[in-house]
Amino acid sequence: MLLEKPLDYAKRLAGAALGAGALAVDATVGNGHDTLFLAERVGASGRVFGFDVQPEAVARTRSRLEAAGLAGRVTLFERGHEAMRTALPPEAVGRVRAVMFNLGYLPGGDKTRITRPGTTLPALTAALDLLAPGGVLTVVVYGGHPGGAEESDAVTAWAETLEPGRFRALAYRPVNRRNTPPWLLAVEKTG
Ligand code: SAH
Repeated sequence: MLLEKPLDYAKRLAGAALGAGALAVDATVGNGHDTLFLAERVGASGRVFGFDVQPEAVARTRSRLEAAGLAGRVTLFERGHEAMRTALPPEAVGRVRAVMFNLGYLPGGDKTRITRPGTTLPALTAALDLLAPGGVLTVVVYGGHPGGAEESDAVTAWAETLEPGRFRALAYRPVNRRNTPPWLLAVEKTG
């Protein structure tokens, strides 16, 4: 498929921004798929910081990383991503190459523990502070669950306020699906 799915495109963008020794953040570790992807990309000298408020998500992610032998290059926080600016070591600020968000609920988990605009938007702003010039923020947004449409609109409105001289912000969105498919917001820090 030439036109990949939003989640796959998010990974390709984050992966392209990373290299050996890079710093990366997974803001919603969930089942740990993106965390594992980032851990592979940063190499043995890099570091990934992961956040989730659900203990099951952190536990599933930890076992996935351990099974792959990559747990040593990941720091997992059982905390909200809105705390990322203070949770990361001060020397990481302005040096992170990629931050990934995958919003909504944990597949196979508690569907009421969704991400919410009140914490998502401050976390997105914090993520931009952490990024290095040339770094990328990817946000996979789900509008189909209760509360999802509001969050999707809030993320769009937030992105529209970003200063054009400092950020390039693009939306990648399926347009002819019958249901409410996820879409991707990608933001590159240019200055
Ligand atoms: N919808 C995606 C998966 C999203 S997982 C899919 O279908 O693949 C979203 C994760 O965000 C969940 O594990 C949930 O626990 C987590 N989450 C919710 N609020 C959060 C917060 N404030 N900080 C960090 N993680 C949060």
